[in-house]
Amino acid sequence: MRDFAPRLLAWFEQHGRHDLPWQNTCDPYAIWISEIMLQQTQVATVIPYYQRFMESFPDITSLSAASTDEVLAHWAGLGYYSRARNLHRAARLVQEQHGGRFPENREKIIALPGVGPSTAGAIMAFAWNQRQPILDGNVKRVLARCFAVDGWPGTTAVQKQLWQLADKLTPETEVSAYTQAIMDLGATLCTRSKPRCDECPFCRDCRAHQQDAVGRYPGKRPGKTLPVRRATFLVIRDQNNATLLIKRPPAGIWGGLWSLPEHGSEVDSERWAANQLGLHIRPQPPLSCFRHTFSHFHLDINPVPARLVDMKNKVNDSGDMIWLKPGDTPPGMPAPVKKIMEKLP
Ligand code: SF4
Repeated sequence: MRDFAPRLLAWFEQHGRHDLPWQNTCDPYAIWISEIMLQQTQVATVIPYYQRFMESFPDITSLSAASTDEVLAHWAGLGYYSRARNLHRAARLVQEQHGGRFPENREKIIALPGVGPSTAGAIMAFAWNQRQPILDGNVKRVLARCFAVDGWPGTTAVQKQLWQLADKLTPETEVSAYTQAIMDLGATLCTRSKPRCDECPFCRDCRAHQQDAVGRYPGKRPGKTLPVRRATFLVIRDQNNATLLIKRPPAGIWGGLWSLPEHGSEVDSERWAANQLGLHIRPQPPLSCFRHTFSHFHLDINPVPARLVDMKNKVNDSGDMIWLKPGDTPPGMPAPVKKIMEKLP
């Protein structure tokens, strides 16, 4: 397909997305924030988060000066929180090592926490119109289908093949438009399920479509069922209806976010609260159990409301424990915790 780029660009001009809040800027900082938010998250979800984030942290200096709590509060609900922690660390590195100026060199960009080759390519293409290939999830899907690339893109061999294709197809000029165009094609037409092949500029040549085998590409990850973990989340409230929140350790799931006290499903809540928190509580009937799925396991959450009985041992607000009063601005909390809090009478 020698005319891949011109056909894609012609399609993009008419049908692509041109008014996203991070478009029409050459500011590498703004582009970087959007690219990190867009990893594993759809455009419609990202837009309000991006706008709030940019209002609070319009540049490297403001982001590097913010506390981790403030940054995580802006990320709460977006998931994959390591992205926010990496962003924050990277901003501080840019401030310290590059005097607050976003680096323009590919190696230096890739050296920033949370930035891989595809994100670096997108930043360079959008900010400086530099010829750099990208290979995010959408691009992988388009290329695997158009050129019938067999195998799961998680393997090194398939990745290599896709990168070679991505590199070969990226044009010398109009790189910024081309990069947005191939992302848009994957996000709007060549979607995971039910791609709209009849409207696609590659309909006549796309090998997957020609072979009537679109569902075969890209190859699926070899079968693996996710393990299931169970946990009880305690919603402990005092006589003023303030709810106890505990800050999670910085590393790991929901690192640095504020969550409810949590224990294993086999453990007695009353005894656990006495031993671990020094609190005397009276558990109430549980709320409905629900499932939250992470990339590597399912978590079945059993929310149990409880009343604080013994005020003598009540933990005070400290660095990693707070009592959130009704009407207080909530700190950064994971989506399932927010969901439980919203359900409380
Ligand atoms: S023809 Fe269909 S499968 Fe092929 S690239 Fe276009 S939308 Fe994707």
